[in-house]
This record gives sequence, structure tokens and C-alpha cells, in this order.
Amino acid sequence: MLQNHLTDAELIAFVETTEITPSSLELLSRVTSHIVRCDQCRERLVAFQKMYGQLSAYSPAEETETACEDQQEVELA
Ligand SMILES: [Zn+2]
Repeated sequence: MLQNHLTDAELIAFVETTEITPSSLELLSRVTSHIVRCDQCRERLVAFQKMYGQLSAYSPAEETETACEDQQEVELA
């Protein structure tokens, strides 16, 4: 099975991205297309978002996944 997990650097870059540019768009689409299928990386992303305090930034998980579930897990952690 071919599934390369996202790297920390990619997740951090994603969290830090506040502007949509041609290059950031490529990263955004790669990360979002991965996390909708991968719980592991989605949880890592949520942890990074919390760490960086930028939850208001681009948050694609809201549309495709139940955000409540992730939030509960973070609260308990
Ligand atoms: Zn993954």
C-alpha cells in the first residue's frame, strides 16, 4: 500500500500558511487530501495547530469531517 505520511515540516508549513499562493496551494491540497483519509496525520495536524495557536487559519477538516470528535480528543489529551 502506497501511503506516505505527511512530515512534521509539511504539517508545520500547513499550520503556518495564511496566504493562498500557487506554492502554498500545492501544500494545502496535498495535506488536506491526506488528512481526510488518515486519522493519524489529522491528529498530528490538530496537535500542531494547537501548539501554534492558529486554529483560525485555514481549517479544511471542518467541511469533510466531524470537528467535534477531534476537539474532544484534544481536550482529553
Ligand atoms: Zn498519514
